Amino acid sequence: MHGLIKPRPIELHRLFQGRPDRAEAEEAVRTLIRWAGDDPDREGLLDTPDRVLRAYHEWFAGYAEDPAYHLARTFEEVSGYDEPVTLRGIPFRSCCEHHMAPITGVAHVGYLPVSRVVGLSKLARVVDGVAKRLQVQERMTAEIASIIESVLQPRGVAVVIEAEHACMSSRGVDKQGITTTTSKMLGAFKDDPLLRNEFLASIRS
Ligand SMILES: [Zn+2]
Repeated sequence: MHGLIKPRPIELHRLFQGRPDRAEAEEAVRTLIRWAGDDPDREGLLDTPDRVLRAYHEWFAGYAEDPAYHLARTFEEVSGYDEPVTLRGIPFRSCCEHHMAPITGVAHVGYLPVSRVVGLSKLARVVDGVAKRLQVQERMTAEIASIIESVLQPRGVAVVIEAEHACMSSRGVDKQGITTTTSKMLGAFKDDPLLRNEFLASIRS
């Protein structure tokens, strides 16, 4: 009756089918080391494939979870609170799907509850679960908004992400300090300029 969203074990299971085993993945890292021009059998690099795989385990932890799950299990029914809830400056790390290079930044999340609110840490976990996959910033922004909308069914959702892309700052145009900003406004935040501006002002202050 609370519209609980279940995790998606079937879909996750499908994702992990056909996953290479550890030895294959380590060999792939050795291949990339050779491609970079170095010798994977050099002493300093011997343990690198193992370290890279362990790092991947953390960087891509989002594939092993359904971000909606954190919200669905923990929301509370409240009445009488109908002001926006804003969470400003949630730090995240993601990985761009074009270059597999780090995206680092912050997410600002707001929603206008009708009857359901969640602990603020749960919103941060949604950001984290969405971030820890291969991403493009625009899709990440939209996914966070749509998860919050579908589970909490608020009157509106606002998500703004500001991030730096290592694929821009360390190569190609080679410009550091450029921040890309994306936003997704749903419901009341889309329709009501006053509410939207209030949110945008609150994340700037
Ligand atoms: Zn990129």
